Amino acid sequence: MSFSMHGVAVSGGIAIGRAHLVSHALLEVAHYVVPEGLIPQEIQRFNEAVATVRKDLETIRQQLPANAPSELGSFINTHLMILADRALSVAPVEIIQSELCNAEWALKQQMDDLVEQFEQIDDEYLRERKQDVVQVVERVIKVLLGHPSQAPVLEQESAIILVAHDLSPADTIQFKEHKFAAFITDVGGATSHTAILARSLNIPSIVALQRSRALIRDGELIIVDGNQGVVVIDPDKDTLAEYRLRQEQWEIEQQKLKRIKSTKAITLDGTAIELFANIEVPADATKAKAVGATGIGLYRTEFLFMNRREMPDEEEQYLAYRKVAEAMKGLPVTIRTLDLGADKEMNPDTVRTCTNPALGLRAIRLCLSEPLIFHTQLRAILRASHYGNIKILIPMLSSINELRQSLQMIERAKLSLQREGLHFDKGIQVGGMIEVPAAALCAEAFARELDFLSIGTNDLIQYTLAIDRTDDTVSHLYNPLHPAVLYLIETTIKAGLRAGKSVSVCGEMAGDPKLTRLLLGFGLRHFSMHPAHILAVKRQVLQSDLAQLLHATRKILASQDIDKIEPLLQKLNLS
Ligand code: PEP
Ligand code: MG
Repeated sequence: MSFSMHGVAVSGGIAIGRAHLVSHALLEVAHYVVPEGLIPQEIQRFNEAVATVRKDLETIRQQLPANAPSELGSFINTHLMILADRALSVAPVEIIQSELCNAEWALKQQMDDLVEQFEQIDDEYLRERKQDVVQVVERVIKVLLGHPSQAPVLEQESAIILVAHDLSPADTIQFKEHKFAAFITDVGGATSHTAILARSLNIPSIVALQRSRALIRDGELIIVDGNQGVVVIDPDKDTLAEYRLRQEQWEIEQQKLKRIKSTKAITLDGTAIELFANIEVPADATKAKAVGATGIGLYRTEFLFMNRREMPDEEEQYLAYRKVAEAMKGLPVTIRTLDLGADKEMNPDTVRTCTNPALGLRAIRLCLSEPLIFHTQLRAILRASHYGNIKILIPMLSSINELRQSLQMIERAKLSLQREGLHFDKGIQVGGMIEVPAAALCAEAFARELDFLSIGTNDLIQYTLAIDRTDDTVSHLYNPLHPAVLYLIETTIKAGLRAGKSVSVCGEMAGDPKLTRLLLGFGLRHFSMHPAHILAVKRQVLQSDLAQLLHATRKILASQDIDKIEPLLQKLNLS
C-alpha cells in the first residue's frame, strides 16, 4: 500500500529506488531460558534463519545491477563466507544446547567473542573486518526476530536508497566511496554533520523522518524528494510517473546551471564575489574545481581522523593537506584545524562520556588540552603550505585568550620546523571561525589579531538559539532567519570589514541560494559551501544589484519579528 512520510530536507534532488535498511537489530536482542524439551526446535529455528540469510545473500549477489559499485559483489561474498564459518553456523548451536538459551542470545554471545578476538589483531584492515561479522550476525538476528527477511529485489539499473535510524558522520563519510542514490534517516537535524556530509555527496537526503526504518521494508520501492522532504513508499503508477517527470526537470535544471561554471561571479553592478568550496576529504578538491570554485574556504580535517583507532601521524596528514594544496594549483586552501567532539567522534562506537558534548571539550578546546595532537597537525599544515596557497583556520574560538594560545602554538610549530630546516610559507595567514555568540559579539577584537574571519553559521545558530543541531525534536526551531542570528552575522561582517580583514561565511547558510542576496546586503563578499551549491548561488550573484539590496536588507535586519522576516526575504529575492 502506498503512503508518504515527511521529514527535514537536507539535500536536494529526486531519487527513485529500492530501500536498503541499515539495521540496528542487535539492540533488540533479548535473553531468555528455553526449556530443555524445546531445544531441538530452537536449534531448528536458528538453522532456518542461517539458511534464509544465505539464500538472501545469494539472491542479492545474482541480482546486482550491472552498474552497482564493484565493491558490493566482493562485500557479499565475504558475508557469505563469514556466514558459512563454523564460528557462526555451528558454535551458536552448541551454546543453545549448553546454556539452554534462545538462538538470538547464543548468536550474540558468539559475535561478541569474535569481535573481541578481531580487536586483538594488529593488522588494521583485518581488525576492521569485525564490522562484517557484526553485519552478518545482524542479518540472522533480524530473521530470528521476525523482521521481513526478503532480499532487496534489485532490478536492472535500480538505485539503492539507504534507510537508517541514524547515521553518525563517521558512518556517512564511508558512503563517499559508494554510489547510493539517496539516504534517509529517522533522526538528525538539518545541519548535523551527517546532513552536511549528505549534502557533500550531492544525493537527495532527508532526516528526522521519525519512523522510516520501522515502516519501510528492505527492497521496497521508494521515492525520495530531497527538495520537499517527502518520501513516497510503494508509489502507484501515476505518482511514479509524476516523480519521474520531476526528476527529469531537476536534472535539466542542473545541466542548465553547468553553463555558468566558468562565468566569473560578478554582481550586476560589477562587484566580484568569491565562491569557495567546503571539502571533507582530499578527493573533494576535484569536485570543487569541476564547478569552478575559486578556492577551498573550509577543509574539515577531522574526517581524516575518523573510523580508525590511531590518529594519523604528521606524515599522513602532511600528504593529505599537500594533495589538496597541489590540486588547487595556487588557489587558496583554508585548512581548519581539528574540530573533533560533539557529534563528530573519531569512531561511531565511541561512548560519549560528557552530558553536553556540544558545550564540552570540542574543537580548539580539545586541541589546546592535547598540545601534542595540535602541534602535530600544525606542523603537517605548515609543511604542506610550501606546496600551495594554504591558510589556517581555527574553529570554535570563544575568547581572545584561546586565540592567543593558538597563535603561540602556531609559532612553536614554525620554530620547530625552522630548526629542522623544513620549508613552509612564512607569511601563512591565520583566520578564526566565528561560531560562538561570544566571539561574534567581540568580533572586532578577533579581527584585530587575525588575518581573516569565517562565520560558522551552523554552530552560531545552535549556540545562539540553544538548539542542538543534531536533535530532530527541536529541528523545527532551528531558524537561520532568527533576528538574533541575523544580527550576529551582520555584526561580525561589519566588524571584520572595519578592521580591514576579509570575512566569509562557511556554514550551510552560504550554500542556500535563498539567502545569497541577504548575505550580500549584509556586506558579505566571500562565500564557502559544498561544491554542489556553488552554481545555484552563483546564479543568484549574477542576478543581484548590490545597491538595490541595501534598503530591503536593512528592513530585515531592523525587524525583531520572526514572522515578518520570511515575507521580507521573499520580496528581496523577487526584486
Ligand atoms: C559551522 O559551524 O557553521 C561550520 C562551518 O562548522 P561545522 O559545521 O563543521 O561545525
Ligand atoms: Mg562549526
